[in-house]
Order: sequence, then structure tokens, then C-alpha cells
Amino acid sequence: MRSAPSYDNADLRRLDVAHHLPPQQDWALQESSGGSRIIVRGEGSTIWDAEGNEILDAMAGLWCTQIGYGRRELADIAHEQMVQLPFYNSFFRTAAPPTIALAARIADLLGGSLSHVFFNNSGSEAVDTLVRTARYYWQAKGEPQRSVIIGRKNGYHGSTIGGVSMGGMVSMHNQGGPWVPDHEHVMQPYSFEEQREDEDEDAFSARAAQAIENKLIEVGPERVAMIFGEPVQGAGGVIIPPRGYWKRVEEIARKYGVLLGCDEVICGYGRIGEWFGFQHFDIQPDLVSMAKGLSSGYLPISATAMADHVVETIRAAHAPFVHGYTYSGHPTAAAVALANIDIIEREGLVMRTKSDTGPYLAQALQTLSDHPLVGEVRSIGLLGAIEITSEKGTSQRFGAKPGLAGALIRDACIERGLMLRAVKDTLVMSPPLIITHEEIDRIMLIARDALDACEPALREAGVVSL
Ligand SMILES: *Cc1c(COP(=O)(O)O)cnc(C)c1O
Repeated sequence: MRSAPSYDNADLRRLDVAHHLPPQQDWALQESSGGSRIIVRGEGSTIWDAEGNEILDAMAGLWCTQIGYGRRELADIAHEQMVQLPFYNSFFRTAAPPTIALAARIADLLGGSLSHVFFNNSGSEAVDTLVRTARYYWQAKGEPQRSVIIGRKNGYHGSTIGGVSMGGMVSMHNQGGPWVPDHEHVMQPYSFEEQREDEDEDAFSARAAQAIENKLIEVGPERVAMIFGEPVQGAGGVIIPPRGYWKRVEEIARKYGVLLGCDEVICGYGRIGEWFGFQHFDIQPDLVSMAKGLSSGYLPISATAMADHVVETIRAAHAPFVHGYTYSGHPTAAAVALANIDIIEREGLVMRTKSDTGPYLAQALQTLSDHPLVGEVRSIGLLGAIEITSEKGTSQRFGAKPGLAGALIRDACIERGLMLRAVKDTLVMSPPLIITHEEIDRIMLIARDALDACEPALREAGVVSL
């Protein structure tokens, strides 16, 4: 066995600042903090940094390592496939065996009429493919004026020009536009911040769904191509829609004859206790994007699934769909994704999330709900959130700037060996699907300790310095 590689932490951090530009970050903070934390190893649900710190990874990398780290089986399969055929394209009426096998496997997991799969390399690309397909579908059907896509504010659909346009994140819209036209965004079903006092869950659900119908009528139903959203908004702060919301949205899509699309990049592959989020909410989308858990992040690969009627319409045009990526259906990535799905199946990780670890996480989160800084805890499957509030019983936030408390507590968690993420003042978690009860208990112990440690600074006249 080869010995583990060793790293010069100081040198790597220096080079990181000098040359490496990290995504979705403040590059000045990267510089002033002396560079990134260097992560060198992972095993199960745990990662280690170059200083030897052990960190429980309650984010599953970035919402993706369903099967945890250190699975030699995936490395072996990648090795075999690379020796056999590392890469070949699928542009010119050619395809490699793992690519086809993976398409069939995904279609089987999706069920219903979602029997066709187009491959890409990232979630953003899967979304780009999905949007292009939705619009092209209507063009092929002879209704080219249907170009409008209705999504939700604060939805996350990736970082390409298409993904940002489709997404509803104001912070992203503020940088690098203008954006692709005909993307509309309506209120998100975010009860902690948006549910009115005089509303029960059902009334809130109806109002949030109605916002979609109102927008559809406002732009003109004959101009709308698709309604699109994450079953549970992930990057927006683990926003779990109220009961009945998705059923209502599906009804609206059918009523006006527009396509329904689901972005399953986070919810897919067991995250919320079914193979796909739309299955949990019992709806039937026409188009589905997926990535992250598809390969547990071991290699980059994503997919866009399409219903039979979509593909039949496009086939009837008898023309090439001039869309695709060099690495669409990459054989090695596809082989690794297949092996990942094998493991999820063999170890029963979807059912375990639904009936064991998901409920356990929900219970464990409840133990934090008495903490004076905690405004709400919520979870679905292995997606969880803790809302930080300055005044219990309200959704008031600390300080002049929302997000300060979240960042402070997140950093305190990381210092204590727990990787969580802060979305403004919402702490979010998405642990690997192999997480154990003991590890879930540890998440809560560290989170409580971090909350306790941060409270005095946060109370100090609401002024926080980091
Ligand atoms: C992460 C994510 C994306 C983008 O995926 P990338 O692989 O980062 O391009 C798109 N949609 C959702 C819902 C995501 O969570």
C-alpha cells in the first residue's frame, strides 16, 4: 500500500491566495484569511484538513456525497473504465456501454414516462439543457411564442448564464448580467419568513401556489413554456414547501397546458427519502435535472430526463437537436455513477433516509429548538435547517446585516469539527446518506456548543464583529 501523501499546508495556502480563485467566495476574504482550509482526506462522513483536524462533514461535500468518502469500489471502476476506454464522444451516432446502461438505470429509477436521459457534466449544464429543451419543444410543436419560464425567487439553478437567469438569487443577478430574457420569479414557499400570522399552512400553501398562476396570467398563458423549481430549495436555505404546494403547482401546469420541470440536483438520489423529490411530493414533471448525488461527487456528471411526449415531439421534427457537450455521457463518469447507484441500492440508503436517519435527524434537531437563538428547526429526509433569530418567536435577525450571525455560528461549528453551511442566518445541513445516529447526535452537540459560544457576542448591542 502506498503511504498517504503529505502536504505543506503553509505553502499550499500561500499558492492558493496567489493563484487559485475559489467559487462563490469573497476573494478579499480568501486573501486576508491567509488562504483556504486545505482538505486532504475523507472517509465515511468525515474529512481531514492538512493541519490534521478531523471534521464531521454534515454538508456531504456540497450536498452530494450520498455514499460518503473513501469508497474504493468507485476508484476501481474508474480505473477499469479508463484502461478500457477513458473517453469517447456521443455526438456522431456512437455511445459507450456505461453511458447507455446509466441512461436506462436512471429511467428506471424515475419511473412513469420519464424514460429518456440526456447527459451533461454539472447541475448548471443540466439546467441549461432543460431550458433549451423546454423552449425547443414548443418551437417543434409550432408554438414558438412560449418562451417564458416561471421559477421562484431565491431558487438556485446553477451558475452558468442560463442557470443564473433561471435561478432567483438577487445576489447573483446583481453580478455579470444582463440575463437571458423571459425568466420570471415569484414568491418562494418559505413559511418562516413569509407565512402571515393569520394564515395556516394550507392558506399559505394556496397563496404561494397562486403566485405562480397569477404570474402565468400576467404574462399570458400562451407565452409560458414551463413552471420550474426545486422540490425543496437547497442553496436558498432548505426551504421545505407547505403541504399541498406541489400538488397545486402541478394542477396549475396542467390547467394551462405548460410543462412542469423539477430541479432535482439536490433532492435526487435519496436526499429526502425517495429516489427523487417529485416522488415524495407525488407529482409528475415533464423535465428533470439531476447531478450531485448521481455520482456522489466522485466524478462530475449530470443528467436531464425528459418525458416520452417531449422526446416524441422533438423526434417528429426530424432534425438534429443541435445541443450537447464534448463530455456528454462521459464513459468513466457514467461507470462511476452506475457504481454509486449500485451502492445506494445495495445499502438501502433511500429507505434508511426515509424511515430511519431522516426521522432521527428531525428528532435530534428538535432538541435544539429550546435554544434562545433558534427560531425554528426543520428537516425533510437528510436535509435540515436551523433558523437563527435575535428574538425568539419571531423571524427577527441579529445586527444591521442579515447573515452575520449565521457566518459567526457556522465558523464556530467548523472550529469545533463540524462542517455546516450558513445561508444568511439559516444554518443548513445535508449529511451523507450513510450518516449514523451517533454522528447525528454529534452534529447537535457541536451545534449547541457553537450557539452557546456565539450568543454573548451576538447579544452585545446587536453589533457583531467577525
Ligand atoms: C448545485 C445545484 C445546481 C448547480 O449544479 P453545479 O454542478 O454546481 O453546476 C443546480 N441546481 C440545484 C438545485 C443545485 O443545488
